[in-house]
Amino acid sequence: MVAVDLGGVDRLPVPDPALYPTVIAPLFNKFSPLPAGPARDAIERLLARCGFENRGLFVMDGSRRSSHGNAFFTGFGRAKRIVLFDTLLARLGADELEAVLAHELGHFRLRHVLKRMAWMAVASLAFLALLAWLMASPWFYAGLGVAASPDRPGIALILFFLVLPVFTFLLGPLFSLHSRRHEFEADAFATRHASARALVRALVKLYEDNAATLTPDPVHSAFYDSHPPAAVRIARLRALAPAEFAAAADVAAMATKALP
Ligand SMILES: [Zn+2]
Repeated sequence: MVAVDLGGVDRLPVPDPALYPTVIAPLFNKFSPLPAGPARDAIERLLARCGFENRGLFVMDGSRRSSHGNAFFTGFGRAKRIVLFDTLLARLGADELEAVLAHELGHFRLRHVLKRMAWMAVASLAFLALLAWLMASPWFYAGLGVAASPDRPGIALILFFLVLPVFTFLLGPLFSLHSRRHEFEADAFATRHASARALVRALVKLYEDNAATLTPDPVHSAFYDSHPPAAVRIARLRALAPAEFAAAADVAAMATKALP
């Protein structure tokens, strides 16, 4: 499976048949091994620290279609590959890239994608059960001004999909809340294995590049956003690694004192 994550904006789990990394993806994008250098060294050290087995680090020419930064894992078990968009590589320093990868590893290690897919499977079954019940309920047809036709399941299916968004709209905030909790957990994982300050710098760049506001309306954000607002994430990261940020403040204070 593929966990696509911008670190800042929305992402989706995409089912990934074994063919995707080797056959399908190369049709649309060029993949090349991540060149040697500080970024590769930092990422390899991070993967070793976390005990993350993989079959190589690749760069994908994502800039052909979008300037958005992105990174994902693909493949199963030990055959996993790590793919970075060339735009991410161009935009972030080695320590920032390491921190973003640590966040992604957090999603992977904490099984966020699997959990989400399990939830979606349960929700799909629940909706199918609901549909089966509604199909046999005359009031369902009557309420929508349609003649009851339980022998024609297509009618019930169309009506069901017409009505469903009214109710799933109300479930939206719950899914958003769940997703934002996963983001906080992945951020906490990243601070344990990489630099919280580097993650903050990377987040600000990614939110900027994705033209996402750093200060969204809190109510709108609580309802719709799968990722927490940047300011909230940064505040939590600062709280998780106060020593790292205090050291930076000391340096800033010393620099200020040194000024005439
Ligand atoms: Zn994330």
